[in-house]
Amino acid sequence: MGEYINVVETFGCDVFNDSVMQARLPKKVYKELKKTIEEGKEMSMEIADVVAHEMKEWAIEKGATHYSHWFQPLTGVTAEKHDAFITAPENGKVLMSFSGKELIKGEPDASSFPSGGLRATFEARGYTTWDCTSPAFVRHDAAGATLCIPTAFCSYTGEALDQKTPLLRSMEAINTQALRLIRLLGNTTSKKVTPSVGAEQEYFLIDKEKWLQRKDLTYTGRTLFGAMPPKGQEMDDHYLGTIRQRISAYMKEVNEECWRLGVTAKTQHNEAAPAQHELAPIYAPANIAADHNQMMMRILKKVASRHGLRCLLHEKPFTGVSGSGKHNNWSLTTDDGINLLDPGKTPHDNIQFLLILTCILKAVDEHADLLRESAADVGNDHRLGGNEAPPAIISVFLGEQLEDVLEQLISTGIATHSKKGAKLETGVKTLPDFMKDATDRNRTSPFAFTGNKFEFRMVGSRDSISSCNVVLNTITAEVFRDTCDRLEAAENMEMAIHDIIKEYATDHQRIVFSGNSYAPEWAEEAARRGLPNLPFMVDAIPALITEKSVKLFEDFGVFTRTELESRAEIQYEIYAKAINIEAKTMIDIATKQIIPAVIKYTTVLANSINAVRQAGPMDVSVQLELLEKSSELLKKTNIAMRELGRLVAEIPEHPEGRDRAVFCKEKVFKAMGELRAPVDKLEMIVDKEMWPMPSYGDLIFEV
Ligand code: ADP
Ligand code: MG
Repeated sequence: MGEYINVVETFGCDVFNDSVMQARLPKKVYKELKKTIEEGKEMSMEIADVVAHEMKEWAIEKGATHYSHWFQPLTGVTAEKHDAFITAPENGKVLMSFSGKELIKGEPDASSFPSGGLRATFEARGYTTWDCTSPAFVRHDAAGATLCIPTAFCSYTGEALDQKTPLLRSMEAINTQALRLIRLLGNTTSKKVTPSVGAEQEYFLIDKEKWLQRKDLTYTGRTLFGAMPPKGQEMDDHYLGTIRQRISAYMKEVNEECWRLGVTAKTQHNEAAPAQHELAPIYAPANIAADHNQMMMRILKKVASRHGLRCLLHEKPFTGVSGSGKHNNWSLTTDDGINLLDPGKTPHDNIQFLLILTCILKAVDEHADLLRESAADVGNDHRLGGNEAPPAIISVFLGEQLEDVLEQLISTGIATHSKKGAKLETGVKTLPDFMKDATDRNRTSPFAFTGNKFEFRMVGSRDSISSCNVVLNTITAEVFRDTCDRLEAAENMEMAIHDIIKEYATDHQRIVFSGNSYAPEWAEEAARRGLPNLPFMVDAIPALITEKSVKLFEDFGVFTRTELESRAEIQYEIYAKAINIEAKTMIDIATKQIIPAVIKYTTVLANSINAVRQAGPMDVSVQLELLEKSSELLKKTNIAMRELGRLVAEIPEHPEGRDRAVFCKEKVFKAMGELRAPVDKLEMIVDKEMWPMPSYGDLIFEV
């Protein structure tokens, strides 16, 4: 039995959180810092110096030798540069020091991070600045202990080069407009509105030794070859199944590491595919949730290697079973604890809720392309529209109760009643009866209302949740703003609110869909409704730079046109690079592992045929058939491989950016499929002992 920990004491023990600050900082400094955190007041250097000093003392007590500005460039992973606290020696002795300036501002060389043409290499300056609303923490790993300071990352000219900056900007936008709206509706007490986010994280765990034997997994994070085993996930026996001991031991350590860092790891379970699991935290303000999700992903990976496991965060590590996503639960919360997405018991007479809800419908309908784009990443192309994943078409699920209220509004102009949940009768006397929710769940919808929040299910498991929250915050801010403009000009406020709710509900009905989003008929129906269907990343990227998008983001100071253009450019680059690596890995595996293995197998077969024939007039038809079949497939493999090689060599001839990405998708990606097909067939024929890598069955059923 492992040791037990005291969760209450452990939680947040490595975080420079509010109670640590209150205990350690002089009262005046604490108050000033709180003002900065809560009200966005600028911080003086004097205050910063005191905070930095105390932070350092606290971190040193935890064993820290270094500090690091921790940031999220557009590479998709976090970045950090470590500096020791030591000063230049005097009389051979060093001091441990950390100034306010060092806390607030860092200067990593920006030239090696993607900037999408924002910066020439000689303009290498980039700055990281402390996001004091996300607490600093001490991370323990092989490098010792490091004080990590969550920071935003900008270029010398102030353009955002990271995920955090636009997220913070969008949080300001939604705060301003949401406050304006609720004031008009009579709220005089709330001072701040924050988007709350809880991101459920899906992942796969496989054996590390087996992972090492798969070059495709090690280089690209997903399998590029692999035939389905006789059993997949059709029995639904993994979802919420008993968690195996090896996995439980892993989860226990993941939770403990999360808790130490203040990450509220809460719900864990087995997911739909074999070897797939999920971990969800308790929701937090969007920027903290985004930081915590990055920390969680790192912990999931780090702890896996301690257990002889490998954690796969790729969106589709295995073809034929579920991919992994990140369900982004989103709501709007006031500082005095009101959830603006809470419909209450009788939504039909909750005017504020209905107005906010219909605003969100309008926002999502008008910017569906942008929301879809926010979930675009290379791995997600394989996941969306596949097993247990939403399609690439954005629609909103509201549930029976709310749909009924909206229908009443649309048809008669007033909603008079809300459907109620009935009593759940189990038919067993000893089981308590309880009231059902008024609405069932719909797991197939990409954007589902789930009681008092929306769940955006499109985001990929490896992706940052920042992009989708930037979009959700900003598109909602836009409709709130336009609505406030109208209400402020209205003569009769009540009438105006009523008219707007009815108008938005009527005009944006097409985005509401409660059927099965996985069904092929939905794609046809969605096309009739005029909803965008952008199945691939390269089709989605242009949404970033439409005039509509530029106007939206510039209006709220979230992105400039240049920043958007650079982001589109980076997306194209990332896509082309990823496909290039995958294609080269396929060629490598085919050349060095698969073709030699098949040659060996056919030689053994041929020898066997000769040997059997020599032994007497025996029937060798089975061996001959296998030999013929495998030789035929071997030939096909070789042809497909050469074609892929030719196309890969052509990649650099296509100008970087959209052209190259489109070429990679239309040609290279297609050729990868042509190579995979015969190889997967060969895997089904060739003697398992001779197959050069662990099979899908070995990988996902034997963890
Ligand atoms: P599910 O049944 O979909 O797993 P949960 O209630 O477990 O639903 O919640 C899933 C995630 O949603 C959790 O991270 C949870 O903290 C988060 N969540 C719950 N309420 C809210 C809210 N009001 N705003 C944002 N996220 C929320
Ligand atoms: Mg869920």
